[in-house]
Parts: sequence; structure tokens; C-alpha cells
Amino acid sequence: MITADGEKQAIVALLAADQFDQASVCLQQALDRWPRDAGLLLMQVRLALRQGELQQAHAALVALREQGCPPPDWLPWVAVLAQALDQAGFRPLAQAWLHECQPMARAAGFALPAPLPLPPHIGPDSPPLHTGQTLCRYPPYEGDAYIYAIDVAGSCNLRCPSCPVGNMAEVQRSKGLMPLDRFEAILDKIASDRPGLRPIIHLFNWGEPLLHPHLGQIVQAVGRRGWVSYVSTTLNIDRGLDKLVAARPSWIKVSISGDRQQDYGRTHARGQLERVMSNLKLLRRLLDEQPPQQPPIVVTLALHLYRHNQAARERLAALASELGFDFVASPAVLMPIEKNLQLAQGSADALTRQIADDLLMHPAWLSQLNRQRRSGRFDCEARFNMTAINFDGSVALCCCTYSPQLNIHQDFLQSSHEQLEALKYAHPFCETCTRGGFDYSVNDVLPASVQPLA
Ligand code: SF4
Ligand code: SF4
Repeated sequence: MITADGEKQAIVALLAADQFDQASVCLQQALDRWPRDAGLLLMQVRLALRQGELQQAHAALVALREQGCPPPDWLPWVAVLAQALDQAGFRPLAQAWLHECQPMARAAGFALPAPLPLPPHIGPDSPPLHTGQTLCRYPPYEGDAYIYAIDVAGSCNLRCPSCPVGNMAEVQRSKGLMPLDRFEAILDKIASDRPGLRPIIHLFNWGEPLLHPHLGQIVQAVGRRGWVSYVSTTLNIDRGLDKLVAARPSWIKVSISGDRQQDYGRTHARGQLERVMSNLKLLRRLLDEQPPQQPPIVVTLALHLYRHNQAARERLAALASELGFDFVASPAVLMPIEKNLQLAQGSADALTRQIADDLLMHPAWLSQLNRQRRSGRFDCEARFNMTAINFDGSVALCCCTYSPQLNIHQDFLQSSHEQLEALKYAHPFCETCTRGGFDYSVNDVLPASVQPLA
């Protein structure tokens, strides 16, 4: 006689032999017979998570929960599902699972990661948009404090085709360095606009911070206020690196896109890999020469993944580890929003189409996926938790827009925080961006076809 336990043993054997497709067929047949069997449902969760089928894993966990008395060993799988959902952008759903299962986990002596609270500086809802609609907020992905992206060096020595510096050369945009006194005045205004807030200060947006001759003093100005500073560089320059390290930024990210010049030079156009490699070693040496201090400066080697450079992942991870740096690899994205919209509308130029074809996730596909997975109930993080200030003090609609006509104010120092927020929430371009699925927001619907992002 066929029993549920006998079927489970057979499925476990198939899983142990890595025969996932066969295991999946057997599991489905068993579930058709015993749809409420907790052990089978849990196996379905495990198998679905392993295959990246979030919809199926979610549905099986819902079925287990609806039984009222799920087995105690389901809780670790709640944690795994919550993590997978979070990584795929379904933060509200991941949070709901964690929240709902906390009491059960506590009673079972199991520690689930706690749901993330909404940071106190973020209200639960947006002010009404110009359409009259109000949107919900969520714990942001980019940081648990408010972020100011200040482009201290409004120019770059590289011409990456994924970045407007490389792909929007025709745009008339002024270039230059932010004077130190303007930077200090901007920090003072942030402090008086939003007293008590300890923001994160990004010292870049569309520029290379090391081009600024006073970068060390800029970092110190942030540190004196007890705020977090974040420098992103390609390390194609070594001038000023010693002063940068001595100024102790909170975080230095070195972006890279390969470990062979032919790959690197394609996506970090004009970049010289040999120079980057030698500057990484120099950075290590400069850090070692510093007296030990807490907290240490975090250095991350960040690989932008394209179709052509994935083989470099392990080698660059090994290099980062050898140098004592963190390593992260994430899919490269096309910027700015304007270019993504052109691609989705079929009006992009050849350079943009070419770089888009090299991305792991084509913007047109991302647009389609986001429009499928979003109800439009959630605010955009680039709007509710960030302000982008250009080198000349003008304020961009957000850190993802580049065209000067999308600036919302010509002078950050002459505008209140409330005024800037009102200008952002009244801007019609956000509606275009959101309709295209390019807003920086969360996914809150889970259609059957959904796949994890990476
Ligand atoms: S992505 Fe960074 S390094 Fe490349 S052109 Fe843009 S600002 Fe410069
Ligand atoms: S909706 Fe789009 S344009 Fe508006 S702030 Fe968000 S990312 Fe920027």
C-alpha cells in the first residue's frame, strides 16, 4: 500500500541524489493524494525555495499555517522564505511573515530575525501626490537613516556606458567641484532643517570623489558632525588617497567590472585595470599605516555583474579577501531613469541598446516584471529617503535622474526641506517613471510567474 511516509522517503532519496525534477513530480503526485500532509507541504516549501519558486513556497507555507498547528520545524523555513522574498524586493510580504511568526517562534524557542522597524524619520505614508494619491512607506533598502547624495565632484574621468556621464554626453550639464565652504553650508543646513537626524552622506552621484582636491577635508566635515560618510570610487586615481584614508570615511566602495582589461575597459570605459589593482594595494597599505580605531573604515570591492564578466566573480572575491576587504557582486544597472524609459519605449540609441543587452537583467524585462509585481501602493525610496544635491548646489528630482530640466531647485541652501519634499511629490516625471516600473520601490503582489531577482 502506498503511504504518505513511504512517498516522503522516496522523495528524500531523490532530493539526496539531486534529482529535483523527478522529486518535484513525485511530490506533486503525493500532494494530490494528501493535500494537507504537513511533512509534504514542508518538503514543497524546501524544494520550491531551492528552485527559486517563491510563489509556490509562499503558497505551501500559507497552507501549513492554515492548518492552525504547523510542525515546529517549519519556522526555519519561514526565515529562509522571508530572506528570499526580501532579496527579491517583496519587503512588505517578508516583513509580514516575520511579524506573524514571532510569537510562534518565541513559544517554540526559535529565534527568527526580527521584522525591520520603519526608522523614526520616515512617516508611514507619503504626502499626497499631485494625483491626490497617498502611498505607504517601508523600511528602506539603502540604509536605515536618511541619505543625502552630494556630488562633490561633478565630473568623472571615466565614461561608463551604463552611466549618464558615458551615455548622455550630449546633455548640457555644468561640471565642476563643490567649494568647501558650500559643502560646509550644506551640512549646516541639513542639521538645521532636520535637527536630531544623523544622516548618511554619500559623497558622489555622477562624479569621481577623488577628483576633488579637498576630499579629505570634506570627509572630516561629515565626521565632525558624527554622521556617516560614504565614498564610491573606481580607484583609477591615487592622488589624495592618503588624505582620504587619514580623514576616516565610514565606508569606501571600489566599483569594478572585471579582472581583465578587455572586460573592465568595456564597462568602465577609459579605466585602467592595472592602475586600479595597484591602487587597491596602496589602499590596503594606507589603511595598515593608520593607528587602529573603532569603528574601522569599511572597504568593499563591488563587482558590477554583466553577461560577459561573470567568470571574474570568484577571482575578485579572492582578491578582496586577500586584501582584507569586503566583497559584493550585484547585477549592473543602467542609469539614469531617462535612458531606461527610452529603452522601454524602443527609442534608445545604439550605445544604450548595446549595454542593455549586456546586463543580466534587461531594463525592458525589469520594467515588465515590476509592473506585474507592484500594485502601486508603495512610495519610491529614492524620493522618501534620499535627496540628491549637485556640485553647484542645485537639487535633482532624485539620485537616478540626470537631465538638468529634472532638477527641482537651483539652490539647496535657499529651499526648506518641506519645500523640496513638496516639489518632489508634485513632479509629474515620477508618474512617468512609476508607470514604466522604474521607481525604486517594493513588490507587493506575487503572481505565479514570479522569479527571484538574481
Ligand atoms: S559610473 Fe561612476 S565611474 Fe563610471 S562614468 Fe559614471 S560616475 Fe564615472
Ligand atoms: S519615482 Fe522615479 S523619478 Fe521619481 S523619485 Fe522615484 S526613481 Fe526618481
